[in-house]
Amino acid sequence: MTIPFKHAHSVPVLMYHHVSPAKDMITTSPENFERQIRGLAKNGYRALSTQEFADFLSGKPVAAKSILITFDDGYLDNWVYAHPILKKYNMRATMFIVTGVIGDGPARPVWGDKQALPEMIPHKRAKAMVEAGNADPVMVRWSEVHAMRQAGTFEFHSHTDTHTRWDRNCENRQDCLDRMSVELLRSREVLKNQIGSVSEHFCWPQGYFEDDYVKLAQDHGFRYLYTTIAHGQNVAGGDPAHIYRFAVRNRGFYWLCQRIFLASHPVIGPLYNRWKLWKRSKRA
Ligand SMILES: [Zn+2]
Repeated sequence: MTIPFKHAHSVPVLMYHHVSPAKDMITTSPENFERQIRGLAKNGYRALSTQEFADFLSGKPVAAKSILITFDDGYLDNWVYAHPILKKYNMRATMFIVTGVIGDGPARPVWGDKQALPEMIPHKRAKAMVEAGNADPVMVRWSEVHAMRQAGTFEFHSHTDTHTRWDRNCENRQDCLDRMSVELLRSREVLKNQIGSVSEHFCWPQGYFEDDYVKLAQDHGFRYLYTTIAHGQNVAGGDPAHIYRFAVRNRGFYWLCQRIFLASHPVIGPLYNRWKLWKRSKRA
């Protein structure tokens, strides 16, 4: 007897930024993050590695209830809260890091340690600190990156070197592409030096890309390009240069479970996406 939906029709990609008690629009509280991860683990969801996800896109089947968990930017709270919670439930995730803002120094205490945790700074203030050149109190350090790799909680990929929207900070389109090219080269070099290799997985800063950006990233060896576009499905044979992701809200497991259902169902998923896009076009 064949079991329907034994293999995944599509793989939902979850997008987080912060897991922190410092409240903000794009922050999940440690309590809700634990509810979500515990719920996923207990209900038989499996978090894929980027390699398994890449293999799925090129046609290799994965089990139903496969997901990919991603984090953007590399904030310190990913180390302090997300890492120990992932470890506790034996789940894995992927972090897209901005290579130019990661510093040196010893690893800081994490949730569950008997030491005082570093102060958590809300998103807007953290962003302003990074822009002012004071990134260390809010971003992960290389020592922490190495510890997370060793623990198997996170793998690390490029999110450029400075997270700059060059299309808004350049003379003309060619200048914009040239500057973006420097970003890609630098982030590759730093990743190679720090972790010994650089992958084909890349995430756009602030979700911005155009066709010429896609070509540029591909020319630099990035094949799997992660967007912030939610309303589409990552299916076998799908375009690796256009990976859909949805933002996870500061809600419990039940919300996440529903959202994953809507993202992955072979019939309801596309209907839901079409309805969301229609609603958006009405608003516009
Ligand atoms: Zn980002």
